[in-house]
Amino acid sequence: MSPIAVTPPSEDATASDLTINGIENNLSKAAPSLLHSVGTNDALSNTLTTLASNGTKFTNGTATPLAELDASLLITTLTTSPRPVPAPGSPEQASQKVCTDHMITVRWTAQHGWEAPSLHPYGPLSLMPTASCLHYATECFEGMKLYRGHDDKLRLFRPELNCNRMLMSTNRIALPSFPPTELLKLIVKLCATDGPKWLPKSRPGEFLYIRPTMIASDPALGVQRPKEALLFIILTCFPRMDPTSGGLRLLASRDDMVRAWPGGFGYAKVGANYGPSLVAQGEARQMGYEQILWLFGEECNVTEAGASNFFVVWRTLEGKLQLVTAPLRERIILDGVTRRSVLELARARLGKRCGALEGIEIVERKFSMFEIEEAVKEGRLIEAFAAGTAFFIAPVGHIHFRGKDLDIPIKEGESGAYTKVIKNWLKGIMWGKEQHEWGYVVEEED
Ligand SMILES: *Cc1c(COP(=O)(O)O)cnc(C)c1O
Repeated sequence: MSPIAVTPPSEDATASDLTINGIENNLSKAAPSLLHSVGTNDALSNTLTTLASNGTKFTNGTATPLAELDASLLITTLTTSPRPVPAPGSPEQASQKVCTDHMITVRWTAQHGWEAPSLHPYGPLSLMPTASCLHYATECFEGMKLYRGHDDKLRLFRPELNCNRMLMSTNRIALPSFPPTELLKLIVKLCATDGPKWLPKSRPGEFLYIRPTMIASDPALGVQRPKEALLFIILTCFPRMDPTSGGLRLLASRDDMVRAWPGGFGYAKVGANYGPSLVAQGEARQMGYEQILWLFGEECNVTEAGASNFFVVWRTLEGKLQLVTAPLRERIILDGVTRRSVLELARARLGKRCGALEGIEIVERKFSMFEIEEAVKEGRLIEAFAAGTAFFIAPVGHIHFRGKDLDIPIKEGESGAYTKVIKNWLKGIMWGKEQHEWGYVVEEED
């Protein structure tokens, strides 16, 4: 980005114009491809709070660009003590503590920008106790999966959307920018290195969980924009997911607990959104519910279920069949890759009758717990499901709201018909049964 300010701006100036115009202006200069790839048809994309450029250093009034994140500079050091892969269904695999042999780290400093990325054996990080992220939640992350397809191939699912979202999250918490395509190259490299061993071809249908993370590692206690950051990528073993028999049980959040609010940061995948939700989550578990259904405002509008987006299928009072989810406009919910994909597939394939399924209208609008309650009472609520990478498409069977358990009419251990067809389409793309542009094949290194 070329500086246009007359006086040398502070470091903060590069990313500080968070108005929609400022963002689009910055984006179109710094990363025209980003604007293009995220599309312009939804509110969150339009306000992607970022410029992909990493900034500029000012000395004596002249500008020198800081080093960009550059995946081609990767330095590889392979492990000399490879570890065993947990057996399917083993406690190690279920623990979500076992990571693959390698990880990628990249250091950034305000002085020089991005250093050469390093792929090296998995292991602990070294941080000073004064590190910014330990005190001020200067941390954000992504959650993706690497799938071992039934056609033997390794695939990511729409990974460019995660990389764009990570950039947006870093910008929300004053962490450095980067070209999302370079992050994607690093993710692919780690997957290509560890995928062949950790997702053997003999076990199609398994996956690894990918966690790209950025933290401010700045060892200075002052509350300020960090001058050092660390980007790292790890791959974690996860067990296969079994659908909960009878569907998820959700506990609607209490009036005195809010996950996100307009003007806040609920739309960003920043750690600060999750720690404070764990009290409610713990209470829910204790009461026999799996997730919190986060409501917002006096109208009790439904936003998200745990760390997943939330959908219902209902028939309106006028008799229209609709698939409904909360809108992105107020920026209190996360722009889920799964959410987006559900909406896009449903718009493309379910608008008109599809086999035995009646055509359905796809609606992004505010809707409240009271509307759900009424629809349940009148037999108009047909299905509900949560959608996100971690738990994929999870049918919802019960919602507890203000002392009452609402039963969503799904069959025991199964899901509703629309939930099922959408889930199967997505599965087909992720595991390679359907060749689709959303499936990103990772070429393996062995
Ligand atoms: C990650 C996340 C989701 C789901 O997003 P996906 O991209 O579909 O995985 C939804 N809500 C919240 C709060 C999340 O953190």
